[in-house]
Amino acid sequence: MNAPRKNEYGQKVLIDSEEIHAGIRQMGQRIADNYRDEPLTVIGCLKGSFIFMADLVRAIPRPLHIDFIEVSSYGNDLQSTGNVRIVKDFKHPVENSHVLIVEDIVDTGLTFDFLFEHIRLKKPASLEIATLLVRRSVDQEMRPVKYSCFTIGEEYVVGYGLDAAGLYRNLDHVAVFDAPV
Ligand code: 5GP
Repeated sequence: MNAPRKNEYGQKVLIDSEEIHAGIRQMGQRIADNYRDEPLTVIGCLKGSFIFMADLVRAIPRPLHIDFIEVSSYGNDLQSTGNVRIVKDFKHPVENSHVLIVEDIVDTGLTFDFLFEHIRLKKPASLEIATLLVRRSVDQEMRPVKYSCFTIGEEYVVGYGLDAAGLYRNLDHVAVFDAPV
């Protein structure tokens, strides 16, 4: 058996850059096939999705609009505060356009719930989510995650846009962050 891969910070590499890009290529093609010629607006949820968003939209070979929303729920520690609030709203009108939300990870699903409720009020033709990561614990009946690249367990992860106290977003892979005890 191979030794677990470690990155430059000694963190265990969970998903490397090649695996991420293969997953995104497949997802992008699936999205393009599903929406065909219908109007599509892709809304990235900041900050965690910024790298995934940039790679995903380039893997969707069709015209689309791009916007961002910034929400905050975790503050600066590793625990969800349980309430989600808008830091910056998106501006692009989405009435009668299909909307695809892009998230870094669906964890408790609170952000998912908040974004669906918020964007639904703007009457999009349809609303779906594309996420890099989804926790195995997410109830897919309650929160159907239409597009996800990887399913993970309970580990707290960093990299490829995801942070720990603002750091590690610029890793090109997803690694496990072991909080100091
Ligand atoms: P939710 O619990 O609402 O589904 O997820 C909210 C946000 O928590 C995610 O968009 C992400 O920014 C953050 N989050 C959840 N799990 C992790 C994790 O393992 N690592 C990092 N860096 N952020 C996480």
